[in-house]
Amino acid sequence: MVHTPSLQHRLPNEGAHIHAPWRSETAKQAIAQSEALCRAKGARLTPIRRRVLEVLLASPKPLGAYDLVDRLGSQGRRMAPITVYRALDFLIEHGLAHRLASRNAYLASSDVSTGRQTTAFLICESCGEATEITSPAVADTVLKVLKEQGYQPRARALEITGRCAGCQDIH
Ligand SMILES: [Zn+2]
Repeated sequence: MVHTPSLQHRLPNEGAHIHAPWRSETAKQAIAQSEALCRAKGARLTPIRRRVLEVLLASPKPLGAYDLVDRLGSQGRRMAPITVYRALDFLIEHGLAHRLASRNAYLASSDVSTGRQTTAFLICESCGEATEITSPAVADTVLKVLKEQGYQPRARALEITGRCAGCQDIH
């Protein structure tokens, strides 16, 4: 029997408010910057990796791997989940995307276009939106604590879950 990775839970979509997604101009710029970054590292942003990144950039919310599979299919053809996972691994390894462990979802990194390293994600449990925040002071403090503990971190960003400002007054 062939083992297929189990379907992941989809993120809730019922949030009424959707903040402005990446504008196409910004996305185009991010793709160009990502390509340059890969080239500089001797890595290749293959058409599939690029497609995955484009879909992540176009989404205002983090996407599960199977949401990506759904969106990447064209002309009735479904992209193999393993292909999507491999592309995601590449994007994460090169700092072009982040994986939110608490949601098992992925999002494009804004580090590439802003040049600022993400410190934390504020993840809304109601609308599913993830807001990236940058705070060198927090990042330095966390790094200092990790060093004191002799701990080697794999993920660079903290994840804080709760309710975003827009969802606090919706019941
Ligand atoms: Zn929210």
